[in-house]
Amino acid sequence: MTVAQLFDLTGKVAMVTGARRGLGQAMALALADAGADIVGVGPNPMDGTAREVEARNRGFTGIAADLAVPNDFAEIVGKAVAASGRVDILVNNAGIIRRTDVLDFAETDWDEVMQVNLKSAFFLSQAVARHMVERGAAGRIVNIASILSFQGGVRVPSYTASKHGIVGLTRLLANELAPHGITVNAIAPGYMETDNTEALRNDADRSRQLIERIPLGRFGRAEELATALLFLAAPASGYVTGSVVTVDGGWMAR
Ligand code: NAP
Repeated sequence: MTVAQLFDLTGKVAMVTGARRGLGQAMALALADAGADIVGVGPNPMDGTAREVEARNRGFTGIAADLAVPNDFAEIVGKAVAASGRVDILVNNAGIIRRTDVLDFAETDWDEVMQVNLKSAFFLSQAVARHMVERGAAGRIVNIASILSFQGGVRVPSYTASKHGIVGLTRLLANELAPHGITVNAIAPGYMETDNTEALRNDADRSRQLIERIPLGRFGRAEELATALLFLAAPASGYVTGSVVTVDGGWMAR
């Protein structure tokens, strides 16, 4: 294969959760740039993402789903298949964070974060994997982890638990799905410029402290995560499974 073919997703269909904004939107657009049609899954209409995908001459299907509650994931995959023919790539990106001291942390903030970041990611992966196995087609699953998949953090107990969990799940899914030609990997972003980190970036002291600790000396841009995703979604990564790729400006190396 040529280098261009190794990164070509023409004719593929990629499902991305949380594709309306932030990292999910950037990843959806990068997948479309590489030739994939996109299925976005999220609670709100994704008109901006749809417009940008269609401007790239790729198809976009939006599926309304609140991943903070139990869902019929077979139905979600069924809608994607009805609209786009199949799902070749799943990106479990949707994620939320709740910041409160351990001593005051509420059970609802535990449950919601675990439901979106971990439980829904697993059951959507299961539904997509069933579809891929039924078709007998190879596939790619990429989970969005965090540097809090490796570190404890502070004031974010359910987020840290969910992001540690997603790395374990990535490895388990990689083991079980490998015989079916499905690779499963994760990307662990560091501090990226999105709504998720807005509160941190607006706090001048905290922001300066973080930047001082990041070897590359700045927050990351969503496009810089999307390039790592392209590798994991493309034929180029055929012998990579069960891996966690950090895209963190060197944070974990420090
Ligand atoms: P973001 O800008 O806050 O966007 C979050 C996305 O998740 C949005 O598209 C949102 O949908 C969707 N979402 C939220 N609640 C949902 C629900 N109940 N059901 C379905 N979708 C839901 O976040 P981001 O920074 O792009 O983060 C994306 C992923 O990267 C998350 O898993 C996050 O934990 C991870 N991450 C981010 C950073 C960072 O520095 N930004 C660092 C490490 C890891 P709506 O747009 O419709 O609200």
